[in-house]
Amino acid sequence: MKIVVTGGAGFVGSHLCKRLLDEGHTVLCADNCITGSTRNIDALRTHPNFQFIQHDVTEPFDYEADAIFHMASPASPIGYMEHPIETILVNTQGTHRMLEAARKNNARFLVSSTSEIYGDPLVHPQTESYWGNVNPIGPRACYDESKRLGETLTMEFVRQYNVNARIVRIFNTYGPNSQIHDGRMIPNFITQALKNEPLVIYGDGSRTRSICYVSDLIDGLMRAMFSENTQGEVFNLGNPNEHTVLDYAHEIIKLCNSRSNILFEPVRVDDPERRRPDITKARRVLGWEPRIEKEEGLRQTIAWFKTQIPNLSSVL
Ligand code: NAD
Repeated sequence: MKIVVTGGAGFVGSHLCKRLLDEGHTVLCADNCITGSTRNIDALRTHPNFQFIQHDVTEPFDYEADAIFHMASPASPIGYMEHPIETILVNTQGTHRMLEAARKNNARFLVSSTSEIYGDPLVHPQTESYWGNVNPIGPRACYDESKRLGETLTMEFVRQYNVNARIVRIFNTYGPNSQIHDGRMIPNFITQALKNEPLVIYGDGSRTRSICYVSDLIDGLMRAMFSENTQGEVFNLGNPNEHTVLDYAHEIIKLCNSRSNILFEPVRVDDPERRRPDITKARRVLGWEPRIEKEEGLRQTIAWFKTQIPNLSSVL
C-alpha cells in the first residue's frame, strides 16, 4: 500500500514508518520538523520505498495514498506550550486537510488523539465512553481542546462522507527516538539519572502514571488502522499497569546505576493526578495489549539515551 505518515520524523511516527517499510509498504513521511528531527529517519532515507517531504500539513496536501496515519502534532507539554497556535492548527486545520486527502483518495485514515482529551479525569481508569474533564482556557488547552476538535472533525467525516476513519487515544508512550529535552517524565528521569543529577518530581511522587513501550503502541496503531469493523471507532492505546512517579524514579536510578537523589518541586498547573487507560475495547476488538515489561522497556530506552548524551562515559 501507499501510506502517508504525517509527523513521521517524530518519536512515534519514525517507529511507525520503519514498521510499515518492514511490512513492504511504500511510505511518504510528511513533517515540518517543528518538534521532530530528520535524525529519527536517517536510517530509513536510503530505503527505496521511503520518501520524506518537508511539509506543514496545515497547507494543501495533494499526494496519492491508500492509508493516512495523521500523527503530526507537538506532543510534550514543552513542545505544545512553546508552539500553542501551531498545535491548535495542526490538530484542527491539519486534521481537516488530511481528512480531505483521505476522502479524495478513498483511503483509510487514523488520527492520533491523546489521553489528554480526558483532562484531569474524574473516573478511573478511563474508558472511551468517558467525556473528560478539561480546562478549556488553561495552558494545556491548546493541545487538549484541539485534539478534541480533531476527533469531532474525524467523526463528522465518517458521518457526512463515509470516510474510513478511526481515532486512537494514545496514553504516555516511551522508548528510543523520544526527545531528550521534552520535559516528560521518562526522558527527564533517564537524562537526570545518567548525568547523576537529582531527579525532579513535581508533587510528592504519589501521582501515578502508566507508560507504554513504543513497539507495543505501534502494534496497536497497525491493528486499529487495518482491522475490519474499526471505521468510526475510538480506541484507548496505552499500558494499564499503573505505578507512582516515585516508583519510576527509583527504578530508573537503579537501572542507570546512578548516584542521583530525588528533588521534590511544586505540582504543575493542570497536571493530572492519575491517568490510566481502560483497554478492554482494544483487547476485544483489536486483540491488542501491551507485551513489553516495564523493566525491559526502560532498559532499551536507557541504552538508546546513553548513545544520545555526549560524553556520558566521563560523567558516569
Ligand atoms: P513528536 O513531537 O515526537 O512528533 C510529532 C511530529 O509532528 C514531529 O516530527 C513534528 O515536527 C511534526 N509536526 C508537528 N506539526 C506539524 C505540521 N503542522 N506539519 C507537519 N508535521 C508537523 O511527538 P510524538 O510523541 O511522536 O507524538 C505523535 C502523535 O502521537 C501526536 O499526534 C501526539 O499528540 C500523539 N500522542 C503521543 C503521545 C506520547 O506519549 N508520545 C501521547 C499521546 C498522544
